[in-house]
Amino acid sequence: MTTATNQRIDGKRLWDSLMRMAEIGATPKGGVRRIALSDVDAAGRAAFRGRCEAAGLAVRVDAIGNMFARREGRDPSRKPVLFGSHLDSQPSGGKFDGALGVIAGLEVMHSLNDFGIVTEAPLELVNWTDEEGSRFGHSLMGSGVWAGVFDEAATFALKDEDGVTVRGALDSLGLAGPEPARAFPADAYFELHIEQGPILERENKRIGIVTGAQAQVWYDAVAIGQDSHAGTTPPSARRDALLCAARVIDLVDRMMRARGEDGRGTVGRLTVIPNSCNVIPGEVRFSVEFRHPQQAEMERLAAQFPREAGFIARDCGVELQLTELFRIPAQPFDPACVDLVRQATARLGFSSREIVSGAAHDAVYVARHVPTAMIFTPCKDGLSHNEAESILPEEAEAGCQVLFDAVLARANREL
Ligand SMILES: [Zn+2]
Repeated sequence: MTTATNQRIDGKRLWDSLMRMAEIGATPKGGVRRIALSDVDAAGRAAFRGRCEAAGLAVRVDAIGNMFARREGRDPSRKPVLFGSHLDSQPSGGKFDGALGVIAGLEVMHSLNDFGIVTEAPLELVNWTDEEGSRFGHSLMGSGVWAGVFDEAATFALKDEDGVTVRGALDSLGLAGPEPARAFPADAYFELHIEQGPILERENKRIGIVTGAQAQVWYDAVAIGQDSHAGTTPPSARRDALLCAARVIDLVDRMMRARGEDGRGTVGRLTVIPNSCNVIPGEVRFSVEFRHPQQAEMERLAAQFPREAGFIARDCGVELQLTELFRIPAQPFDPACVDLVRQATARLGFSSREIVSGAAHDAVYVARHVPTAMIFTPCKDGLSHNEAESILPEEAEAGCQVLFDAVLARANREL
């Protein structure tokens, strides 16, 4: 039985394959625009399918368009080992977010073919539909439906800005398949992804061993004061909704910083009404989100924030309406799968650190059903969701090699 491994994946083939995928939806600034369920996404999927079939894999597609490319194992009674990521991108996205995990998965399959390895368990390479959520407003859509987090019918009915539904987009491009979009028994799921943050690069580490994903709580906030004349309204008569919002933004930042380097708190969207230079703003709408690796700390944030924001609003003479949009619990990954990543990294001699994912990934929903782990590689300046997103060929190769070793170890493990 083959377990670990002097076999090396082909770094040049991997890089060429990544660059060829990046041509589909390439932007002038060197990024990628491959929005979910668009013509360009369809072209990417067709290219992916072609390459999978050329590698001898059998491709199935489910009702939400998730693609599964299967390589049979020696023991048909075993559950498959899954690995993959997503091929869709942000409107001005980078070449590697998502694509790295899918294309590295393809390289794993090619390498197994080259070495003539038949694994005990079958393997399935996955391309999840619409991870980014930029078109239909629902990130992790394909994996969320598959995992039963999102209702399938409600998801099909989601509309983009032009009124096109998910169902309509799937049908018009022929991207849905006959399989039900439902979690099936699987032995494990591994996802290789760029870190999308600065930690690995700053610490000069080649591999991030991802132990889980952060807890999150998101709010919609509306501050309602009163529009009034900038010149005639004295301080005692002002009910300035923007002042309230500004102080709440400062509160979010202070609450984040009180938690040290693990804290995250962000106001990323703000609309000022009427947004006129000589009118005291009567209404401000803004977003608030907090994240933390520990569930208990996120709950403390969620208890503290509405109370303290309420005090600020009262001081400003403003009414603050806070709606909690959702909470995502912290998702620890499977210790045995994480350990396979750790062992592979150590055996290969790569520098590494353990890391909690700051972003949401398909793996977070898959982990609700399937033992899961993730592998991170550094990205230049921690930049992602940006056309300038960049990684080095040797970083892609190292991540792919860890993926290869972890997948092989899991698929050949003694049961
Ligand atoms: Zn991604």
